[in-house]
Amino acid sequence: MNFHSSDHTFCSMDLNEVKLYIEKYRDRIDEALRSRRFIELCTHSGNEHEICVYVFRGTKRDHLLIRCDYCSCHDYLLNVVSRKKKQLCYHLLGLEIAISKGLIVKVTVTRDVMYEILKEILLCDFSPTLRRVM
Ligand SMILES: [Zn+2]
Repeated sequence: MNFHSSDHTFCSMDLNEVKLYIEKYRDRIDEALRSRRFIELCTHSGNEHEICVYVFRGTKRDHLLIRCDYCSCHDYLLNVVSRKKKQLCYHLLGLEIAISKGLIVKVTVTRDVMYEILKEILLCDFSPTLRRVM
């Protein structure tokens, strides 16, 4: 799969910098897209407000994502927030690519299931419930 960074704006970043990140993470992002790891998890819309969150379904760890702003992975906490060595982790870059290419996987669940998945990711970095509903 080819990524053309000039097609999109990524998180208000300088395009040359985006290209470097894409080069660096190309293989991992490519694998993640093929394996349907970028998920938009939403509650059923009905009388209540629909809630949607972005989730990365990893092989060993799952992460919660806020576009361009937050990832619950170790790399983000260490190198983006603490050391300020870079602006984003590969999950956040991959999320933007998944959204822009229409490769995000949308999963709709009840509020109870949403709560269970978020709890599992926040407490254990892994959600068996997410795997059951996919
Ligand atoms: Zn991350």
